[in-house]
Amino acid sequence: MSTSDDLFARAKRVSPGGVHSPVRAFKGVGGTPRFMTGGNGAYIRDVDGREILDFCMAFGPLILGHGNRAVRDAAVGAIDRGWSLGTAEPYSLQLAEYITARIPWVQSVRFVNSGTEAVMSALRVARGATGRDLILKFDGCYHGHADAMLIRSGSGLAEATEPDSAGLNKATLGGTLVAPLNDEAALEAVFARHGGEIAAAIIEPLPANYGLLPQRLEYLKHLAALCRKHGALLILDEVISGFRVGFQGCAGLFGIEPDLVTYGKVIGGGFPVGAYGGKREYMEMVAPAGPVYQAGTLSANPVAMAAGMATLEQLADGKVYAQLESLGAELEMKLGAIPGLTVQRLGSVFWPYLAAGVAPLRSLGDMKSKPAAPFGPVFHKLLDAGIYLAPSAFEVGFLSAAHTSAHVGLLAGQMRRAMASP
Ligand SMILES: *Cc1c(COP(=O)(O)O)cnc(C)c1O
Repeated sequence: MSTSDDLFARAKRVSPGGVHSPVRAFKGVGGTPRFMTGGNGAYIRDVDGREILDFCMAFGPLILGHGNRAVRDAAVGAIDRGWSLGTAEPYSLQLAEYITARIPWVQSVRFVNSGTEAVMSALRVARGATGRDLILKFDGCYHGHADAMLIRSGSGLAEATEPDSAGLNKATLGGTLVAPLNDEAALEAVFARHGGEIAAAIIEPLPANYGLLPQRLEYLKHLAALCRKHGALLILDEVISGFRVGFQGCAGLFGIEPDLVTYGKVIGGGFPVGAYGGKREYMEMVAPAGPVYQAGTLSANPVAMAAGMATLEQLADGKVYAQLESLGAELEMKLGAIPGLTVQRLGSVFWPYLAAGVAPLRSLGDMKSKPAAPFGPVFHKLLDAGIYLAPSAFEVGFLSAAHTSAHVGLLAGQMRRAMASP
């Protein structure tokens, strides 16, 4: 038995599935999850002391790599001052001013502790601001685990929905409409029928939770126009893409202004932070300024705020994004040259899809129609060779400022070997 086998057996006795977030359990790839004890730069270290080249990067937050010195120093400084105050304090003010000064459509921002919380709160603001009940979401996007977002389209009737989880109140099902991605006709149809009842449409402008499914710009603009026309708010869920594809996220990159936007992951530099923000008229709805209630005992925790600030300060001049774009382009070229592999990528976010020569995938439907080689064996061969991808065929990979051309070369070389000997 390996050390990880032993720890996992113990963990399963005291926590559901032995983990505290499902994908960590390796169900998607088989075998025992490798227990990790630390990280440094582009590497994580397992419990047996092996250094493993990491392309998961904690599922996105660590854009500067593990153990970034300035982030570490900021967090330690905050701990020395006092790690929780429960009062008004200057640290969240500093981060809020930093963000609102650089992202014009974020005129006001509220910090929370996770992406899920940010989304849940933004939806409530949209309902409060419009006096409408319905939320439109898209199959192939993930928005955290609030009830209203754990809903997918049903297999039967058009417009039928079904729960993505047990334990949802059935009444919740009726509050969420679901449309396919990349389909203007479906958008038109849902707005034609429900336009006057939709409080908000929420979308990942770069869907990155069921593989990476980049949308056509015209499609996103079409959605924005329909929202405007029907008086529904447009919520861009930039929990992954925010501060990741550029400082202003996809909204800045694509030139689409949301009414509300949600952040997580990079905004906290690896500490628990989420945020929602947007146009002042909507954010002024939030308590105590307005009637939409939302609160948090640990919200804007000083350590997390300091880490977020130290992260964003290293990103604001755009140099890291330029570096990551050229490294990403190199990765796309090298992985894309491997037989049987298709790579979808935007900036430092990439998705290796185990199928050859497919057209750009933009929706769940595009994925189902194509046979993909099993991911599990490839994943385990890479791990044995000292390379860690996220443990699921449908999770994306991330580059960080700590990755180099040599690291990308290692990934490509080992991936080629893994794909060649199934
Ligand atoms: C990760 C993610 C969330 C949920 O954030 P948590 O911090 O895990 O609650 C929501 N939306 C998107 C787009 C995400 O990628």
